[in-house]
Amino acid sequence: MSIIHINNLTKTYHDTEVPVYAVNGIDLSFEEGEFAAIVGPSGCGKTTLMNMIGGLEVPTSGNVVVDGSIMSELSSNNLIDFRLRNIGFVFQAYNLIPVLTAKENVEFIMQLQNWDKKKMDARTISLLESVGLGDKLHSKPNQLSGGQQQRLCIARCIAVEPDVILMDEPCSALDPIATARIEDLMQEIKKDYTIIIVTHNMQQAARVSD
Ligand code: ADP
Ligand code: MG
Repeated sequence: MSIIHINNLTKTYHDTEVPVYAVNGIDLSFEEGEFAAIVGPSGCGKTTLMNMIGGLEVPTSGNVVVDGSIMSELSSNNLIDFRLRNIGFVFQAYNLIPVLTAKENVEFIMQLQNWDKKKMDARTISLLESVGLGDKLHSKPNQLSGGQQQRLCIARCIAVEPDVILMDEPCSALDPIATARIEDLMQEIKKDYTIIIVTHNMQQAARVSD
């Protein structure tokens, strides 16, 4: 069953001297449980497409339907709530909250969903252990390596069990060893999620995706 439908999706930027057609009339769908990779050179529109799938950017025309909801028709409050419940993001830049510890970074999103304190505590610790950060619970992001920060982002993203996980070049700032570790983690979680990854690395796409 398809979980995401993309219909004639277009994004044009007119604030530049010459209009930029970042995404131009795309039709695409993703199956539930699929691990899909989007591959293409820099500037071809991958990030713009992902941001529209995740409701971070509004299409110029066409629409994205996730779980039966047309993203661009949700009110801004409903969109925030929808993203919180259904969509997990992992970006190239780690987007962690610098003043919070690893554990607090994961719990922050769970608190927004009103998790019970005891359950949240147990889940956070077991998740951080499962991504190899069991000894870093109280470290701040700037005390972690790039690979550790990205594993923390993945833990944060799966903590609230989103339906769809969007990863935009999650390994492009990492060395090969840290990348291999992230790819292993992707394989561990793939059975439970629909994942779309953007990468400019064909070998990575071939290794991790369906
Ligand atoms: P990719 O992720 O594949 O590298 P992007 O989606 O970031 O590509 O960008 C696609 C095209 O849209 C590029 O030509 C980029 O310069 C342009 N673009 C992206 N965001 C904006 C913006 N906010 N304003 C104008 N042009 C943009
Ligand atoms: Mg990009």
